[in-house]
Amino acid sequence: MDLSAFRDPTIARGLIEAINATETGPVKLMEVCGTHTVSIAKNGLRAVMPENVTLLSGPGCPVCVTANHDIDTAIEFAHRPEVIVTTFGDMMKVPGSYSSLAREKADGRDVRIVYSPLDAIALAQKEPDRQVVFIAVGFETTAPLIASAILRAQSEHIDNFSVFCAHKTVPAALEALINDPDVQIDGFILPGHVSTIIGSHPYEFLAENYHVPGVITGFEPVDVLQGVYMILKQLEEKRAEIEIAYHRGVMPEGNPVAREMVERVFEPIDADWRGIGVIPGTGLGIREEFSAFDAAKKLPVTPPEPKEIKGCQCGEVLRGMTLPYECKLFARGCTPEHPIGPCMVSSEGSCAAYYRYTDYGRTES
Ligand code: SF4
Repeated sequence: MDLSAFRDPTIARGLIEAINATETGPVKLMEVCGTHTVSIAKNGLRAVMPENVTLLSGPGCPVCVTANHDIDTAIEFAHRPEVIVTTFGDMMKVPGSYSSLAREKADGRDVRIVYSPLDAIALAQKEPDRQVVFIAVGFETTAPLIASAILRAQSEHIDNFSVFCAHKTVPAALEALINDPDVQIDGFILPGHVSTIIGSHPYEFLAENYHVPGVITGFEPVDVLQGVYMILKQLEEKRAEIEIAYHRGVMPEGNPVAREMVERVFEPIDADWRGIGVIPGTGLGIREEFSAFDAAKKLPVTPPEPKEIKGCQCGEVLRGMTLPYECKLFARGCTPEHPIGPCMVSSEGSCAAYYRYTDYGRTES
């Protein structure tokens, strides 16, 4: 697809003018997608907002919202000698309470990076005497891939493959943020990738019950500016609707085939979000029918009591209460090369995006 129109400076300038011409009071808009976080930082979009518009980053990076307890559990799997732990690369450096998968690997545990759960299945076939555990972290976007891997393992009778599922779902987390008295959000820039799977309907409660507008948009600069403009227009006209600006990627009904696959394999469970806490029904648990592929049931482990990382304010950053550079450790001890918290580890983390693409926090001593 030719995306040049979505990067066109003339179109972008027109949208910036339109944004600046809208009339609203001071408003805070939150994006809840790590790719939006990077796009906003990389393209300097905060700097072109009018003074009354603040763009906040929310819990849109799946690695960042993974609770210490889940990372500690992944590490415990690696302590079992019969287990090969497999995961996506961005999970490796994420600190748990006492260690990380990267440190465990350096200490000789069998931890391997894969690019897909299907690679983990291939590894299980190659290593029939070992148990291959895939650490699944993500939102609705990657859940269909995990579901298809479990269905494939079942159909091919691969009984040494299992999944530790720490997947989360987005809409109810937005409700938790709206109900948080410490957080002010006047509109949501809704995630493009997640919405390709779930569509726009699951967000409608935001407008109907809370009168908070939302616009699903894509990741190019023009997409993000268009999304911001559409939210500001709603606020100006005192409307609250869920609109789609990302028509090339999202249908209102999402992707029914992917959704059915996810519903077949997973059921909603409570999930612990870093910085937010337990949100009922926002986790994906593997259904009993597929328990042979549920690492938590098949290879039970007891992680240590979780402990928060001293000085790290990822929790506040993920709720939009603290900007990354307001953390005392930002760029002073915590950098992408030497991350202290998950928001600096992941390429989609707010702290990493601010560090890589802005000067914030560098000028003060
Ligand atoms: S700068 Fe580092 S320590 Fe501070 S909130 Fe971000 S990840 Fe945590």
